[in-house]
Amino acid sequence: MSIAIREVLRFSVRRARRWIGRPAAACALSMALLPALANAQRTVVKPGWNMFSPEQDVEIGRSVSANAERQLPMLNDARVDAYLNRLGRRLAEKAQGVRYPYQFKAVNDKAINAFALPGGFLYVNRGLIEAADNEAQLAGVLGHEIGHVALRHGTNQASKAQVAQAPLAILGGVLGSGSVGSVLAQLGAGFAANSVLLKYSRDAERQADILGTQILYDSSYDPRAMSQFFEKLQAEGKSGRPAEFFSSHPNPENRAKRVTEEIAKLGGVPATYSSDSPEFVEIKRYVKQLPAPVAAAAGGAGGHPSAPSDQLQTFANDRLKIEHPRNWLSYGQGSAVTFSPEGGLAADGRGNSALTYGMMINEFGLAKDQGKTTLRNATHQLIEELRRANPGMTLMRQENRRLSEERALSSHLSGKSPLGGRERVWLVTVLTNDGLLYFAGVAPEETFSAYEPVFTKMLDSVRFSEPDRRL
Ligand code: ZN
Repeated sequence: MSIAIREVLRFSVRRARRWIGRPAAACALSMALLPALANAQRTVVKPGWNMFSPEQDVEIGRSVSANAERQLPMLNDARVDAYLNRLGRRLAEKAQGVRYPYQFKAVNDKAINAFALPGGFLYVNRGLIEAADNEAQLAGVLGHEIGHVALRHGTNQASKAQVAQAPLAILGGVLGSGSVGSVLAQLGAGFAANSVLLKYSRDAERQADILGTQILYDSSYDPRAMSQFFEKLQAEGKSGRPAEFFSSHPNPENRAKRVTEEIAKLGGVPATYSSDSPEFVEIKRYVKQLPAPVAAAAGGAGGHPSAPSDQLQTFANDRLKIEHPRNWLSYGQGSAVTFSPEGGLAADGRGNSALTYGMMINEFGLAKDQGKTTLRNATHQLIEELRRANPGMTLMRQENRRLSEERALSSHLSGKSPLGGRERVWLVTVLTNDGLLYFAGVAPEETFSAYEPVFTKMLDSVRFSEPDRRL
């Protein structure tokens, strides 16, 4: 089942408020004052409106990064990570605003890409290191990413989306097949929270370029490298696939011209600057000779996940407790959570992540005037939304049941599987104060009978948290 059910999967506003109202974590962040009179001419870029605190940027980034690292083929090479941290932190010192606890990690992926999560969690593909002609070019990309963090673009977007009642915080962290690009593609839709955090507007791109240019300048790198590398990527993209970088960082118009203008405002290309370092040359050579990444285990391209373990494991969040097979991973953000075996997710061909084996739990926000809707009506709305994302899905049968002593509705749906063939979606819904809580067990039609007892066991194990008792 495609998870990209944007309208369906709403972050509960009540929940968001509670989260936002949470006292700031005791996290040592301080406002760094811009060096006074550093340069009166430089463009002042200001972070946009944000409903989250800087501490929450870190909290969000840390949570999403934990999910990301479970799914990404991390390079886990102390030498490369140490180099990236030395370079990255040196650059981050020059960034304006909040001093985030930056950390940099290399991903064992040849695609040319990098991404930054709120709070300063930066990921750099080995492909980027290998493609950069010199350290200044790598520093340019890092400076740009640091710009997104410092300007809090991720949580700014999330704030705007929240206010617009747009989808947020869905199945955070289910990051399919392992390349940063596919992760980003999936974050783009399947993981609305994350997509909001990572999909930048062209305005945000322009701001990150300006801040990146200033960072390069202030770090004594050739500031022209800010646009050189992007221009190079773009030129290479014209003859083939565009670099993955542009899937999450839309290329702003006149990029090079803006960078040139900013350099002029800063006083022109400095008389002395550095473009490269022996350390970069050494790291690039080292990375290049590392064994090629093993193709990521196909999340469904013909492969079957291993059978669900008989041993169960308890998962609990602030809303409920549920047991799931021990060999299934849980991915979650806020009240949304997905349980899936390795290989239980697939790309649906439209840039979204699709759950092909497993169960997702989430809340379907109902319109305000729907306060008095019935369980059956609300479920009907949810199914309509599911059909929008999964055309051709049909309702086979519906029956009442109980879920942790609450009145629930069980709906059996049949749809097209992203793996080819048909799949079954067993949907169990319960009305809550905020909307409709749903449990969707998904498996291909031909194996559903093997998964149904697992889903039944899981559903039978559900216990709602007392203070959060819904009915
Ligand atoms: Zn960007």
